[in-house]
Amino acid sequence: MEENLLKEITPKSRDFSQWYIDVILKAELADYSPVRGCMVIRPYGFAIWEKMQYFLDQRFKATGHKNAYFPLFIPESLLQKEVEHVEGFAPEVAWVTHGGHDELSERIAVRPTSETIICSMYSKWIRSWRDLPVLINQWCNVVRWEKSTKPFLRTAEFLWQEGHTAHRTEEEAEEETLRMLEVYRDFVESDLAVPVIKGKKSESEKFAGALRTYTIEAMMSDGKALQAGTSHNLGQHFSKVFDITYLDQDGQLKNVWQTSWGVSTRLIGALIMTHGDDRGLRIPPKIAPIQVAIVPIYGKKKEFVLDKAMKIFNMIKEEYRVELDDRDEYTPGWKFSEWEMKGVPVRLEIGPRDVEKQQVILVRRDTGEKLAVKEQDLENELNKLLDDIQKNMYDQARNFMNENIWQPTDFADLKKTLEEKRGFIKANWCGSSDCENLIKEETGATMRCIPFEEQNPGKCIVCGKKAKSIAYFAKSY
Ligand SMILES: [Zn+2]
Repeated sequence: MEENLLKEITPKSRDFSQWYIDVILKAELADYSPVRGCMVIRPYGFAIWEKMQYFLDQRFKATGHKNAYFPLFIPESLLQKEVEHVEGFAPEVAWVTHGGHDELSERIAVRPTSETIICSMYSKWIRSWRDLPVLINQWCNVVRWEKSTKPFLRTAEFLWQEGHTAHRTEEEAEEETLRMLEVYRDFVESDLAVPVIKGKKSESEKFAGALRTYTIEAMMSDGKALQAGTSHNLGQHFSKVFDITYLDQDGQLKNVWQTSWGVSTRLIGALIMTHGDDRGLRIPPKIAPIQVAIVPIYGKKKEFVLDKAMKIFNMIKEEYRVELDDRDEYTPGWKFSEWEMKGVPVRLEIGPRDVEKQQVILVRRDTGEKLAVKEQDLENELNKLLDDIQKNMYDQARNFMNENIWQPTDFADLKKTLEEKRGFIKANWCGSSDCENLIKEETGATMRCIPFEEQNPGKCIVCGKKAKSIAYFAKSY
């Protein structure tokens, strides 16, 4: 029976896309729903999202933000107000046209994002410089009517948080935009063990209606990029359209400067595709809903072993997220496969001989390594082990990323590299959208970001003119 659980997952190397779906279904993260393009997030998947929410929410509050909630529905007239914004989202907006049997006099959009509805409120709430800054976040769902969908990565409805802030000066808004990008980087790298590249989006890739969009880009283990979080400096675009003004200390009426920033359940997709392997998920300890799975191996001494397993469970349950798998209907081998599939960082095995020796066996999900640990050292060893797994998973992903960044010499080399290899292209770019588009048309790779790292560009990889910056290009999710 234990073999079945594994046999049904497609190996990652054979078909990455199918492997991804197999892992989601087998690890019970999510399931398809009767509604086209929507998914059901099952309890284990939702537990990961709850952990993400918890760690992010702490960081948002530590940087002065408060949570609020705005309506799901946005009147069409509000959505239409900012031209670039509505053009950017129009193809994906779901519309409510009827209430009961009656046709509505004005169509209502199901929020694809909440800038417009929030701005309409800010224009009421903000009067004086004393009201600023406004630092609000909301946790909610949004709807984007996507043509092709994939669980967690692109679904018609998804869960996210969106921060919306208003400031007195341009500098303050820029500081906020970058502060929240750094909050995202820190969370994604420290807690999800997913390394990212921080940078700025190009004009054609920026958020509809933003002055500037910043991003963190992660490399999935098939080499494709995943935009893991974005932070937008909205400038005064929305504040002028929605008339969000304040009376400054100098007696002048001025427009506020705004930002918005968000991450979504996409991050669960990033977690799966960065760390998963042919045995299933691998979840870093900090974010794992279950950190330790205890599997008793009874042999002929069920009571003897189970009694000890329960004692150990009670001993560590306060400090760790732990589950005792005492199900009788499955063999230990089947249980091993299941906890591996679910990506639990440490499996704790205990059999009759271990009880006699007053020890347990710890098995690492990241490396498969086994170690015997004396009962009295268990708490100490677990601490060290979980820290080490967290670090090792980050290092593995970081090394993979570093090994798959290519620096081609010219455009022909760039095309060849993208055909033959997986990963990111790092190249000089003149800043023109023509060159950016040519790369996209001929290779399918998009500009991921202009990194914050050192900039000493030479000649544009496409046109050969003087480059303005270094940029990353990749195929992406
Ligand atoms: Zn160029």
